Order: sequence, then C-alpha cells, then structure tokens
Amino acid sequence: MPTKWSRTLIPTSRQVPGDAEVPSHQLMIRAGLIRKLGAGVYDYLPLGLRALHKVMAIVREEMDRAGALEVLLPTLQPIELWEQTGRRDIYGPELFVIADRHAHEHALGPTHEEVITELVRAYIESYRQLPITLYQIQSKFRDEIRPRFGVLRSREFQMKDAYSFDLTVEGLEASYQAMYDAYCRIFERCGLPYEVVEAESGPIGGSSSHEFMVPSPTGEDTILKSDKGNYAANVEKCETAPRADSADGPPTGELETVHTPGCPTIEDVCRFMKVKPAHMLKTLVCGGGDDGWVVAVVRGDHDLNSSKLRTIVGAPVDLADEVAARAAGFEIGFVGPHVAAGRDDVRVVVDHDAMQAKFWATGANQADHHVKHFNWQRDLVGAAKSPPVVADIRSAVDGDPSPRDDGGVLRLTRGIEVGHVFKLGTKYTESMGFEVLDESNQRRPVIMGCYGIGINRILAAAIERQVEGDAKRQGHDDDGVIWPVAIAPYSVLITTIRYEGAVQEAADRLAAEIEAAGHDVLIDDRADRPGVKFKDADLVGIPLRITIGEKGLADGHVEVKPRRADKAETVPVGEAARRAVECLRDL
Ligand code: ATP
Ligand code: MG
Repeated sequence: MPTKWSRTLIPTSRQVPGDAEVPSHQLMIRAGLIRKLGAGVYDYLPLGLRALHKVMAIVREEMDRAGALEVLLPTLQPIELWEQTGRRDIYGPELFVIADRHAHEHALGPTHEEVITELVRAYIESYRQLPITLYQIQSKFRDEIRPRFGVLRSREFQMKDAYSFDLTVEGLEASYQAMYDAYCRIFERCGLPYEVVEAESGPIGGSSSHEFMVPSPTGEDTILKSDKGNYAANVEKCETAPRADSADGPPTGELETVHTPGCPTIEDVCRFMKVKPAHMLKTLVCGGGDDGWVVAVVRGDHDLNSSKLRTIVGAPVDLADEVAARAAGFEIGFVGPHVAAGRDDVRVVVDHDAMQAKFWATGANQADHHVKHFNWQRDLVGAAKSPPVVADIRSAVDGDPSPRDDGGVLRLTRGIEVGHVFKLGTKYTESMGFEVLDESNQRRPVIMGCYGIGINRILAAAIERQVEGDAKRQGHDDDGVIWPVAIAPYSVLITTIRYEGAVQEAADRLAAEIEAAGHDVLIDDRADRPGVKFKDADLVGIPLRITIGEKGLADGHVEVKPRRADKAETVPVGEAARRAVECLRDL
C-alpha cells in the first residue's frame, strides 16, 4: 500500500538547526528523518527508519549469503568480562558503566568481543565445529568525547558487528576475505561510492585491517592514496617510501640561544625567529613510566604519528604527563633534542626528515628560549649515551612518496569510515581462555576476526558522499537530499497538485502499478500549495518524482522527474509506471 503524506509524520523544516555543522546532519533533521533528543542521541522518524531498515535488510542478506549466522547479544554486559580482558581500562571513559540496585556494575556494550567469546566458548570445543562467523545488528553505546555531526558520531547507534572464529591463520584469512567481499557488495548495493584503505594493523601485522571509506570533504578520516592507484591508507597507518637521512654535516653556525617570550605555538616561534616550520625541530616528550622517557623529534611542519612511534618503541607511548616530565628535567614547550645529551634514561627517536644536516631551530631546554643552528652531530650524537634511532614516525602528508616505491605520489583526501574489518588474532580468546582441540587432540587458542558496519552512519554517508568530478554521485544539493534508490525511504514520490477526482484516481492507480513492480511509493496528498510540495520533495530527496496535475491529466500525461535531473519528462499516463521502473533502474 502506498503511504499518504498527510497520514504519516514528515516534519520538514526550512530552518537550519544551529548545532548542525555538516550537510547530512542539517538535512536529516530538516527532512524529518531524525530528531535530536540529547547530545549524540536521536529519534528516528518514519522516513529515517524506513531508510535505516533498508540498509539493515541489505546488510542481513549479504551477511547470510556469506555464511554468517545472526544472533542478538545483550546491551547490558557484566563488567567482569571487561575486566577479564583488561578492556575496562583501555576503553576508559568511552565505556558507559551503570550500577544496578545491588550495586553491581555493567557496561553498556560499545562492541561485543567479550560477550561473543563468552558465548562461543560455552559451546565450541573442537576444531570440527570451526570455522564459525556470528553477527548481529544492535544498539551500541559509546560515550564519545565529542558526539557530533548528527548520526555520524553519536553516543547510541546501530552497528552490524560480526566475529569469526578459526583454528588456523589460513582459516582466518578465508573468513576475513568472505567478510571483506560481503562488505564490498553491501556498499555497492547501498549505492555508496567507497574505497578500501589499509588501516592500523592488529597484532598479526601486515595489512590485517581495512576500513571502508565513503569519499566526502566532510569526512573525519584522512586518507592518502597513491596517484598510481595501487595504495590507499588511513593517515593513522600510511607509510612512505624510504626517505634519506643523515646526521653528518658541518654545523651552520654556533649554537645560539634566543629569548622568545610569549610564543606558545610553533607558528609563533617561527614568526618571532623568522624561521620556516620546516626548519624547526618539534621535540615531544613521551613515556615516563618504567620504560623511561622517549623523546620523539619530527620537523616543525610534520605531525608525530603515535602508532608508528609505538611500533618503533615496542610499547604504547603517550605524551608524557607534564608535571612528571618537568620534574624529570624536561622544560615542556621548550624541549630540544639535546636534552638527552648525557642521560641514560632517555631514548631519542627521530623522523628521517628531521635527521638532516641543515639549519635547525629548536627548543633551548629553558623556558621562553629557543636555539638556532642546532646540529645533530655536534649537539647530540657526540654527547648521547646511545645514538638516536632514526625511523618513520611522522604522519604522511600530501606529496609524500608512495610506500610502493614506484614513483607514485601520495595524495590526500577525506572520507567517512562506514565499515571496518580486522584480524584480531588470539587477543580475546587467550585472555578469556577459549581453546579448542585440534586434529591431534592438542588444545589451541582460537583465532578471531571482527567486522563492523555503522548502520546509521551509512545514511549520513549517503547524503555526504561526494566523488570529485562525478556530480551523478553527489548525495545532496542546495535543495536537499538525493538518495540512492536502494536505501531511499521510498523509491517514488507521486506529487499531486490536488488530490481529488481524476487526479486522485490516477495517482492511486499509478502507485499500485509501481508497487506491483516492487518499488515503494509515497503520495503527496496534502492540500498545500504546489510550491511547498515541490520544495519538500527536493528536501526529502526521493529519487524519482511523478507529478500529476489536472490539466496534464486531461491531456493524458504526467511528469516524471528524477530528483537529480533538471527537467521533467512528459509521459503518457498509461506508460508512466513502466517509465518510472525504467528510470529507477538507471538511477
Ligand atoms: P571511529 O574511528 O570513527 O571512532 P571506530 O574505529 O571507533 O570508528 P569501530 O569500533 O571499528 O569504529 O566500529 C565499527 C563501525 O561503527 C565504524 O566503522 C563506524 O561506521 C561505526 N561507528 C563507530 N563509532 C560510531 C559512532 N560514535 N556513531 C556512529 N557510528 C559509529
Ligand atoms: Mg571510535
């Protein structure tokens, strides 16, 4: 049965909500898809929910096709599970924890590795029962530091999460590939342009994690792609081709201390000293625990990449606690690499581009002072207890050489992460004691993979999608949303100029024909002025609109217009259903 606009709830609005920074957030509220209830918490209205259900249906079909089994796990999770795997601390304040009336604590699940492992551990004892992949579509709770951009980063959201269990690494490879392929089909079917990028690796190393990104200038993720088309990675992980480094070379002058008052940032210092950021050394003090201090040095115009540094150091290294660092002799804000001279509790790790024999300015290890003519050989290497480690520790930037080392140049774009596949290894199965008997009756820990899709985020990403130079794949324009057919709340909107008499009859008949062909229809039967209805039609973004007016109908025709098209096409009323179905196929 087609839906009548006047009988549903589509509270469209011309007002741009004050707190909505990105188009999808503005349009989802203005088109009456969602309503904000609190920070990062949204109601789904009938239109929004229809779109959401369509995404879920596609996801379910493809998960089932890939052989995954659907389950439904609770949101309320015993906190002990999170303590057993050490994740209560790792997740930190992003984990919602609530206490029941007996003062027992529970987590509101932000993800379900612990719970699924607890479940599978109870029933799977032998390699014969493997492999198995389970999935669910369920609410997740994350106390995000900055819930923002509407449903792109909310505190309660729907995720499809799947978990695979295998005995061998080869088994995991196959399970992973099955999910990877299912993801490609899901995003393809949802009508989303996407790119698969290498993401930060799991414990198994190599390219053991991929993210599925929808290209959009509003995306929170930075992606680097080789212009040769053979490499793409999230900036968190992106490597570069080898870069030359050398500490050897004569100093450019005497080490000169400069008083630099009131310069809190690198930019301020550069302006004050008349030095380019590329000639500054940024020195960051990290660590400070039992493993000692790590002083990381990158060029002033580069950013330290903490996961790369972690790999080099072999342990997590956060920026040091400022008070502790000061007490240990680091003048935070004014540290230079030569702070390590003569100390055996400091490891210096330097990025290739910072390890050059050229003019450098850097901190003077003294408040409000910097130095000029820092020289690696003279000022540190000669005096250090252990030589600095030179490694790739900065985030890649636009223009860097591709790590494929084939002359490719990395170009920076932005994207929205809609899915993530990850080879987990035995992290959870080991900490939760999940082993099975292998063919020779030996107990072996099970190898896991985990696979997530942000269901709500897909809706927003469909609206934010933007492929450079391809206007046909843009998810919105100035007038409103432009849905891909597969996940649009309705495929067809029949706008009647006045829903009565012959027009009403024609609209109902046409709707029935189109629905019989498998597409859902919304009829705008409201008594409003045509201008208002056309504006709402564009705002809501149903991919195909059929307009029926009294005059045209008297001549035997209606107008068919794809949301994206500039002009409507006049079609004989008897052929309108067939033409509509044809158009939908091409959209
Ligand atoms: P992000 O880096 O964006 O925070 P994540 O790495 O925390 O994402 P995962 O834990 O891999 O995300 O979750 C799987 C998927 O769930 C993500 O790919 C994303 O599509 C979705 N997702 C994650 N956090 C949120 C959120 N706060 N709101 C909506 N969707 C989310
Ligand atoms: Mg996150």
